[in-house]
Amino acid sequence: MIDKVKKLRAKSIHRLKGLPSDKLDKPVTYWISEDRLLDKIGKEFTIILRSKGCSWALGDQGGCTMCGYIKDSCVDTINSGNIKNQFMRAWNDKLEEIQNDKENYILKIFNSGSFFDDDEIPEDLRKFIYEKIANVSNITEVVVESRTEHLSRDKLIQMRSELGSRHVEIGIGLETVNDYIRLNYINKGMTFKEFLDAVNLCKQCDIGIRAYLLFKPPFMSEESAIDDCVSSIKTLIDMQVNTISINPVNIQRGTLVEYLWQQNRYHVPSYYSLMKSLKKGIKTQEMLNFTRIVCDPSGAGSRRGIHSCSKKECNIQMKDFLKNFVLSQDIIYLKKLDEEEHCYCKLNYHMQKMFN
Ligand code: SF4
Ligand SMILES: [Zn+2]
Repeated sequence: MIDKVKKLRAKSIHRLKGLPSDKLDKPVTYWISEDRLLDKIGKEFTIILRSKGCSWALGDQGGCTMCGYIKDSCVDTINSGNIKNQFMRAWNDKLEEIQNDKENYILKIFNSGSFFDDDEIPEDLRKFIYEKIANVSNITEVVVESRTEHLSRDKLIQMRSELGSRHVEIGIGLETVNDYIRLNYINKGMTFKEFLDAVNLCKQCDIGIRAYLLFKPPFMSEESAIDDCVSSIKTLIDMQVNTISINPVNIQRGTLVEYLWQQNRYHVPSYYSLMKSLKKGIKTQEMLNFTRIVCDPSGAGSRRGIHSCSKKECNIQMKDFLKNFVLSQDIIYLKKLDEEEHCYCKLNYHMQKMFN
């Protein structure tokens, strides 16, 4: 499998050669939208930076089976100055809007790899970014992402001390609490023990954890994906992880998942299964006393993303159920789908489950 992942990855990397130089100083994208903060609804300011790419995807193991983020990278040519320019472009464009806003913000800085990998974001650039954030009082939460091997006590302590009392989370792609699935189906190259060590290190440095769960990895049926997600949610809530971010698989280009999907050997998850997992995983409102659950599926409603049926209105309604739950963190919204009239595909889904 690793050979196949590497072969597909090599094709994606080859396509990256010759990226126009004007892209080097532009972030992949950035936006502001409504989001769930720790204890209320607020806004997110998300910036996706283009770095040299995830070391795991570029290395001998070829990266994770569902991840096509390498296409947002710039393997050969990008340098720290370019990334600084990207950050400043997004920052300068939105700073006034943020400072004039009464809402609090969660700032998410993603680089489709690891924020703490010095090859992607060097230390002086990280420091520069912290100093910018420290001056904006209504940015009350900050999230960055990293693989565990790039975390260190020094890096976390530096971040903690620069960002004052802000709530800080490190997003880690745990994907599932099950080592077998993570190592063999996702090719993550990280054990649950390594995740636990990272959680402990972050706790010692007063930094929170945002655990990403992958909903329906390849080689899994819909039913086993639900079981896996439920057990992961329960375990992480028991651990009092600060945030669980659930990411249903979407078919990204140049990945093993795309290859399987094209051969009809992988099907994207159903919205019904996702809602079922949330309902089974979060039985009581008290379970969310210490953990927030977020989910904003990429490509939702499309052929390549999680969907219910092909009807636009049906998918919009599903998205709304999910969004209402995430913003309110009220489990009442997870039951709405059962209680309210919905599209014909609800019956189809349940019939299929009965006969499978
Ligand atoms: S999911 Fe994360 S660790 Fe895996 S290849 Fe993509 S960026 Fe790298
Ligand atoms: Zn439908």
